[in-house]
Amino acid sequence: MKRKHLITILLSSLLLSGCLYPQGPGPVIPEPSAFPTLEATKTPVPTATSTPTPTATDTPTPTNTPTNTPTPTNTPTPTNTPTPTPIPAGELFVHSYFSILKERLQKYTTPELGDSLKKSSFADYETPYRASDYSDYEIKGDKIIFRFAENTLCESHPAFEYETDLSEAKLFMRYDDDNNLISDTRIRKDLDPSKPMICLTFDDGPYDVVDLELLKVFEKYNARATFFFLSDRFSTEKWKNAAVALYEAGHQIGTHTAKHTYFRDSYFDKTAKNYDHLKLFWQEINGSSLVIAKALGHAPEIIRMPGGYWNDYMSNCPLPIIHWSISSGDTGNLDAKEGETPDDVYNRKVKETSTNVIKRAVNNGVSLMHSIKKPSPEAAEKILSELSKKGYQFVTIDELCYYRGYTLKEGIEYNHYKLDWKQK
Ligand SMILES: [Zn+2]
Repeated sequence: MKRKHLITILLSSLLLSGCLYPQGPGPVIPEPSAFPTLEATKTPVPTATSTPTPTATDTPTPTNTPTNTPTPTNTPTPTNTPTPTPIPAGELFVHSYFSILKERLQKYTTPELGDSLKKSSFADYETPYRASDYSDYEIKGDKIIFRFAENTLCESHPAFEYETDLSEAKLFMRYDDDNNLISDTRIRKDLDPSKPMICLTFDDGPYDVVDLELLKVFEKYNARATFFFLSDRFSTEKWKNAAVALYEAGHQIGTHTAKHTYFRDSYFDKTAKNYDHLKLFWQEINGSSLVIAKALGHAPEIIRMPGGYWNDYMSNCPLPIIHWSISSGDTGNLDAKEGETPDDVYNRKVKETSTNVIKRAVNNGVSLMHSIKKPSPEAAEKILSELSKKGYQFVTIDELCYYRGYTLKEGIEYNHYKLDWKQK
């Protein structure tokens, strides 16, 4: 009874996540494939703007008072502490926060605003968020206030302020309270850049049965991975807890949308009957970002589109789009061949998956495997064991960018044939 129940849960969860379906058609992976091996032109982590530079105008100059006035004992001594310059919003926030705010503002009305936002092109999903719209902000107590000058969001609205919850906004801030870049604090600084690096990535979880085993395997090799998770699965407590455990152990978590929707070209076709789908595209990105942010305490800063689909509309995506360069083939050939027992299929998949990654491994490569495939931990163990011997270091996407000098940008796809690790 218990076992049957478990199997039902597993099967329905796999079906729900869309992962019993093939990942294709998607892009065909050429072999050997590789993210480009770049000569690092290291981009320093931005710090300058967060460190306020005192300017002359910050220090009040005492004015010369007439001679008959008493010694200015009661004149306040000018303090030299400058007011910290706020970090520009476009740099402070993960941009998914702006697209979340845009969705909310579309419904926002006050007596002064009326329906001006609702009725404008601003409310059209075709008009993407603009980071520059949110540049005027102020933190006050437990609130954050965004100020909008008249007619900036759309053609006709009065100036207004939008006050919202600071604790939620903080989930999307790239900097902590001490002005450290959070992603930077999670990067291991003791790796050897002269040795090859590879990112092993796992999609479609979280799934405690596999992810907690992966956690142990990666710990054994002092290795780190990147996981692209489906936010709908966070409603299952033990799956969500597995995601949190991975994040706390230093692995990187990106979003893989909420429902594993394949964003085919038809999704963005304006002439299609269901053009409202564009709205769903944003809900998948914004909704999944918020759920994952709340669970981990920090918003995902990268996304992988299900199936690896690309459409030009995705250049409006508020996150960098990380696809892959090394296919493991772990989603194919799952049916038992004649005479194969389920154990035989499992062992065959461990071998096929690990062999594919090992033979296709390349410096700066990004492999694709799945959290919901039971053979994943054993395959990962073989990959880590073999590639360690060849000097590979197993890094997160952020670590790869740090050591190779890549700067990821919102709305840019990074994969094996659009070789965009270099800045455009
Ligand atoms: Zn997927």
